[in-house]
Amino acid sequence: MPVHDPWSGVARHLRTSVSPQEYETWFAPLTMRLEESRAVFTVPNRFFAEWIAERYSKLLNEALNRELGRPLDAAFEVSLEQVQAPLVQPPPTRARLAGAALNPAYVFDSFVVGHCNELAHAACLAVADAPGGQYNPLMIFGGSGLGKTHLVSAVANQLVERDPASRVHYTSSEAYSNELIQAVRFDGIHNFRDKYRHVDCLIIEDIQFLSGRERTQEEFFHTFDALFQAGRQIVLTSDKLPRDIPGLASRLRTRFEWGLLADLQTPDPETKVAILQRKATDKGVVLSRQVASYLASQPESSIRVLEGYLNRLMAVSRLRGAEADLVLARQVLGPLASERLVAVDDVLRAVAAHYGIRPADIKSSRKSRDISRPRQVAMYLARRLTNASFPDIGQALGGKDHSTVVKGVQRVEKLLAQDPELADTLRAVENSVRQDKQGE
Ligand code: ADP
Ligand code: MG
Repeated sequence: MPVHDPWSGVARHLRTSVSPQEYETWFAPLTMRLEESRAVFTVPNRFFAEWIAERYSKLLNEALNRELGRPLDAAFEVSLEQVQAPLVQPPPTRARLAGAALNPAYVFDSFVVGHCNELAHAACLAVADAPGGQYNPLMIFGGSGLGKTHLVSAVANQLVERDPASRVHYTSSEAYSNELIQAVRFDGIHNFRDKYRHVDCLIIEDIQFLSGRERTQEEFFHTFDALFQAGRQIVLTSDKLPRDIPGLASRLRTRFEWGLLADLQTPDPETKVAILQRKATDKGVVLSRQVASYLASQPESSIRVLEGYLNRLMAVSRLRGAEADLVLARQVLGPLASERLVAVDDVLRAVAAHYGIRPADIKSSRKSRDISRPRQVAMYLARRLTNASFPDIGQALGGKDHSTVVKGVQRVEKLLAQDPELADTLRAVENSVRQDKQGE
């Protein structure tokens, strides 16, 4: 009988279920032996056992069952000959602490302030002026591409510029979590703690990724308290409010709410234009106000996406040696272009057709989501594609109030910041409105 190593079979199943990086981190170091009713895995240390039991028990049990054809429990045992980590680490220097990921171009000077971001901007300035003061922790939240990274990087850049000796650590919650995993794996937990509990300002991005990561949350809770009690500044970003992050421990949630929560809202058209012009100037190209307004009128509220349009326009302009004027912009953005030739009724029909409901449903006063979402989309697109005023749109959509239409439009603007698929939907409906018009 050929000698069959059950672990290699189990490992094969595991490889198909987790990322290569996860596999390398968590499963590659394991050895397995089979007992009567359980599979015993040897792990480098106790932390490792806790991590893997917490996150991968189910997966391991499934892999065992599939490979060995009977249910076995996964058990863990700490290896006696522990993997020794390189324990001596160099003391933290500023260069290491500031992290390679920090973008030096993200400074306050290059940030355009408008209604949508003035609170967050002011809060970040205040923190950069007096870290560990009034706004601790400072949490900046808002949808993707609205400027969170730019603002908190500006804090880090300014702190280091003012005082090159200050220990500013900029990272993301994912990187924090991965670093913790590595520390746990190699028994470097003391170094990890030492590093994180002795910075002057800790900036952690995208803390929504702490969701459900109990062990990371536990560690972060201690990092947070150590820094907070020592009067050190903590700056966090998130795309959700703490209370809307699922699986966030309540003791962390309440701490995140201790300081100041400042949000970034979707930019108004004026601010969009100003940012686009600023970006163009920074790149050394000229962008007319007309073209900037045209780009700003696109449905996306993410500045990142708008910047992408700008870059595309500039690239095509260079390639063809043609001026980046409105004609070229329309060509480049193609079917995105909005021309305002349509009537509210055209929009109403196209939206209803897209969602598989009747125009009468949209005009009704029913509040269920399958009707209210298409209704908001109709309001938004009517505003965008027609010349109708808010009261006109309300009238055409079954006698709704002017303020209802305003709210519907704002709702869609807000959703656009969180949901890239919605932009696709809007484009699809917009295209179908136009095609219907051409067919007439
Ligand atoms: P987030 O982290 O919220 O997803 P970023 O900070 O990465 O967003 O911003 C996306 C892009 O938009 C960046 O290039 C950033 O410089 C730019 N940006 C966002 N808001 C502004 C602003 N108010 N002024 C200038 N640039 C901005
Ligand atoms: Mg970001």
